[in-house]
Amino acid sequence: MSETPVSTIDLDAIRTDSWDAVVVGAGLAGSIAARGLALEGHRVLLVERTGFPRPKVCGCCLSSLATRTLESVGLGELLADCGARSLEEVHLFAGSRPARVSIKGVFGLSREVLDARLAAAAVDAGAELLLNARASAEADGSVSVLLDGRSVTVRASTVVLASGLRSHDRLEPELRDRSLVGVGALVPDPLGLHPDGVVGMVVDREGYVGIAPLEDGRLTIASAIRADALKRSSGSRDVVTRILAKAGLERLVGETTRFTGVPALRRHRVSVQDNRLLAIGDAAGFVEPITGEGMSWAIATGAAVVPSASAMINDGPARANWQGAYRRMMRGRHLRCALVGTCIGRPRLVRSAVIASSILPVVRAPVLSGLLGRFDPSIKETTA
Ligand SMILES: Cc1cc2nc3c(=O)[nH]c(=O)nc-3n(C[C@H](O)[C@H](O)[C@H](O)COP(=O)(O)OP(=O)(O)OC[C@H]3O[C@@H](n4cnc5c(N)ncnc54)[C@H](O)[C@@H]3O)c2cc1C
Repeated sequence: MSETPVSTIDLDAIRTDSWDAVVVGAGLAGSIAARGLALEGHRVLLVERTGFPRPKVCGCCLSSLATRTLESVGLGELLADCGARSLEEVHLFAGSRPARVSIKGVFGLSREVLDARLAAAAVDAGAELLLNARASAEADGSVSVLLDGRSVTVRASTVVLASGLRSHDRLEPELRDRSLVGVGALVPDPLGLHPDGVVGMVVDREGYVGIAPLEDGRLTIASAIRADALKRSSGSRDVVTRILAKAGLERLVGETTRFTGVPALRRHRVSVQDNRLLAIGDAAGFVEPITGEGMSWAIATGAAVVPSASAMINDGPARANWQGAYRRMMRGRHLRCALVGTCIGRPRLVRSAVIASSILPVVRAPVLSGLLGRFDPSIKETTA
């Protein structure tokens, strides 16, 4: 399998081909869907706005659902091939002392490596890839593709929308104070978290910060910070450093640490099936980052959309039932995700939960597994 995919087709060639499926966005969801459809023998065009490898703001913790789904689609070796770091413990700070939760089947892998490998897997399966091109699905079922100032329109039996959260280039003035803004950076590991596979999570009223070791010894810092905290500060680095300082971890951020952002993390409701358009991953529904389930859902919905998209290609729009399949798959998950998001937005509540779980061991498992639901934790030790 190649590691860094390049475009396999150019703008002129995409117009002349007839496509079974156009997939918009080669993130996790899009690449898994494109690969699955190509393996079914369909003509697939995968369009990505950026090139590879590209970093992405993300905690990079892949839960056991992600690993199980990768196995089920024949990509079970991928994480080991990429040297993904097995993660063993979460330290949850809502004050200076952490609650420690042991975890199983969770891996840390940078998005530079993971996304490039999955896009390469889609190409290996026969999908055509067009990089550095922006696609937009039109109401009439066609897709406009823009590259280097030139635009062409293509038609397909189905369009899979896998373009992630709608992002914006600047902090929007109308963003509400409690809205969350995603920021992140890749840093060295001065704390030695990597050898022990420790994930750090610091919750504060200005937002929360996750820290996880990656395959190459670096750490990812991924944070969701409140818009009002950002407006009051000279930049995201200040806010993240302040939050980390609450746990004594501020030295993770150095003078040269560069943060990038995915400005607005917002809940949105979309119809996941609209005529020929099928939405998957973050494009289908917002996942609160702290749940650490976004990548798993992206991979799982990317795999699960294949039968519906195939039915649409083979038998027409009426035969696809992605709406129903998606609803069954996600039943309860969006609710749990929203609940975790609400609790995390109240650090006093988290602090009380951490303290309560240290005083009353009987509440440890339900409380901490509720807060860190993604990790399927078995509680090892709790201090507060
Ligand atoms: C701070 C933070 C921490 C997180 N931590 C975790 C974690 O630890 N674990 C976890 O599981 N999840 C985490 N997530 C969530 C996770 O990053 C997302 O849920 C996941 O990336 C969704 O995958 P996706 O494929 O749907 O979208 P994306 O990964 O966003 O991919 C979308 C792709 O579409 C491309 N694109 C967009 N528009 C267009 C267009 N018009 N034309 C062509 N291409 C386009 C983009 O360039 C991108 O490559 C975190 C998120 C944030 C913000």
